[in-house]
Amino acid sequence: MNKSDSIEVVVLGSGTSAGVPMIGCHCRVCTSADPRDQRNRCSVVVGYGGKRVLIDTPPELRLAVIANGIDMVDAVVLTHGHADHIFGLDDVRRYNTLSGNGMPILASASTLSIIRQAFPYAIDQAAADPLVYRPQIMLQEITGTFELFGRVWTPIHLPHGNVQVLGFRVGDFAYCTDCSGIPAQERKKLASLDVLIIDGLRPTPHPTHLSFNQALEIIADLRPRRAYFTHLTHDLPHAEIEAQLPPHVRVLYDGMKFQVPL
Ligand SMILES: [Zn+2]
Ligand SMILES: [Zn+2]
Ligand SMILES: [Zn+2]
Repeated sequence: MNKSDSIEVVVLGSGTSAGVPMIGCHCRVCTSADPRDQRNRCSVVVGYGGKRVLIDTPPELRLAVIANGIDMVDAVVLTHGHADHIFGLDDVRRYNTLSGNGMPILASASTLSIIRQAFPYAIDQAAADPLVYRPQIMLQEITGTFELFGRVWTPIHLPHGNVQVLGFRVGDFAYCTDCSGIPAQERKKLASLDVLIIDGLRPTPHPTHLSFNQALEIIADLRPRRAYFTHLTHDLPHAEIEAQLPPHVRVLYDGMKFQVPL
């Protein structure tokens, strides 16, 4: 396949908010020898047409982009303002330096409000100390579908307990992390997908995330060609989860790469 005819997805992180291994845990997953059981906090890079869009900036951003050779990204899209999705944002400084440009940061109004509170030194340019090496970020509110580098992105409105999260569809690829359901009107935006990445936290129910069975029910309804669970806990090893799943549903792992036809 010609690269210009596809989206390349690179998985930077696939773990829950505490990461796997968790601090101070010595369970069989946290001590597993399978590298797929070591999970950074969730993020993916979506590449097409020679450009790369980073979805979320988790705490391990620097380590993950170095490990995956992501020497440049051209825009950042944020799903929501929880710590496991935004606290690597400062690391876009290096991309600013390398490109000589500010970094577009696209997010909902509520997420942008959190960014303004969390990174005041990057926002308040008038008060900025020139001695502080700060990120140059250009905040853009997502109010509906938007275009990035010639492709339409469709926001998917997802409940995550009391928080509203944005999922995204571009082409036949969709990314829906951190959700406790997908409302009927939003499911209409997710028809005929080639690949769906969906929250699949753990085997047992959780108030703000989808369990394996809840995610499988949504996958059965939406019928993507392939689906992947993300935001996983340390409850089960990667190989044991995959053994329980139908063949077209797999589990994301850090460093995984795949193509989605455009
Ligand atoms: Zn999260
Ligand atoms: Zn553990
Ligand atoms: Zn969250």
